Amino acid sequence: MQCKCGSETRQNEAVKGRLSARLEFQVCKACGCVSDAELFVKGVKVTEETGTQATARLLFDTLDAEAAENLEAAQEQFRSESVELAGESK
Ligand SMILES: [Zn+2]
Repeated sequence: MQCKCGSETRQNEAVKGRLSARLEFQVCKACGCVSDAELFVKGVKVTEETGTQATARLLFDTLDAEAAENLEAAQEQFRSESVELAGESK
């Protein structure tokens, strides 16, 4: 990807092994700007950010066991509701 400063970014990641949480993000080689972070819990993407909003990073920084559980549960709930809605529309 390309940073807004014009330099190339590289992918980096941070891991909280105890929570099975992983944050993937782009770091600019030139200015160090971090962008486009995606937060995964147990391999499931629970949130992502576009551009330089820090939502996923903030969530990762403040993530504890309870928050990780809630995120995972919310994501599963969302997916099962999506399946139900898809079934109803037929
Ligand atoms: Zn940059």
